[in-house]
Amino acid sequence: MHLGSVAVLGSANMDLVTQQPRLPLPGETIAGSTFTTGPGGKGLNQAVAARRAGVEVTFIGAVGSDGFGSELRSFLDHEGVGTDTLRTIEGPTGIAIVSVVDGGENSIVIVAGANGADDISAADEAGIRSSSLLVAQLERPLTLIEKAFALAKDGGATTVLTPAPVDADAVRLLPFTDILVPNETEAIELSGEGDAQSAARALSRQVGIVVTTLGAKGAIVATGGEIVATVAAHPADAVDTTGAGDTFVGAMVAALARGDELSAALAAASAAGAIAVTRFGAAPAAPTREEIDAFLA
Ligand code: ATP
Repeated sequence: MHLGSVAVLGSANMDLVTQQPRLPLPGETIAGSTFTTGPGGKGLNQAVAARRAGVEVTFIGAVGSDGFGSELRSFLDHEGVGTDTLRTIEGPTGIAIVSVVDGGENSIVIVAGANGADDISAADEAGIRSSSLLVAQLERPLTLIEKAFALAKDGGATTVLTPAPVDADAVRLLPFTDILVPNETEAIELSGEGDAQSAARALSRQVGIVVTTLGAKGAIVATGGEIVATVAAHPADAVDTTGAGDTFVGAMVAALARGDELSAALAAASAAGAIAVTRFGAAPAAPTREEIDAFLA
């Protein structure tokens, strides 16, 4: 293990985004107005956010043998994210079909594809053992995350979990988790409590530190069953909040890997989140370390 590096275990998807006036009814075909493709997946987003925030990042992931897989690999290489542990598996790359309705909510279908691979290679293990933090979300199989977190703990690394998309079975990862970063909905669902504060208190009896993000209201930090700190959000002219949570986590782990105290890391994370919501997209909206430092200056 050495200070200054982060391993991200997570998903890489190609996002296929259509915009249309409304969702089609079953059996109906309608015309959309725009179609774009772009790199996505919570793992890829967090890896890019951490890299831009200024640390070495190893991405432990899998793409398919199709064109999307090559595109995602090139994107990560271009961003400077380590891809020695990005495997290519025969079959399709993970995709997310995002249907954006004019003036309304997004509807998303995710097909895991290569993200469903659940084994750890020797290269993955080396990547985990050489990093000071291991970060995961829930778009890879739980058994894989469990194995990786056990390895990380064995090697003395800090484990960070974003429990999204939320899954009640994820409670079995909590004994291996040092820092849990749910949003309000995830905290409530995972704990079974009725509000973010009670959820944070309950979850912090099971993991070392719980950082619950509350969107434009910032975040709260809980340890040992008590809320011990709040993290202020910065006012921002938000145009697209997609991926704010992933950018927050990426900036937080980058600062922790550099040796910052948690309070400083959370200040950087909050600044990164505020910058990201003023830009479109998830990974492409993540700020650089210079931008975060300038924002906080
Ligand atoms: P997503 O699922 O879109 O990635 P999330 O629900 O996981 O987001 P949020 O709690 O919405 O995460 O946001 C994470 C952090 O980003 C917040 O704690 C805050 O610091 C920052 N943030 C989010 N929205 C805003 C906003 N509108 N203005 C300023 N900061 C914001």
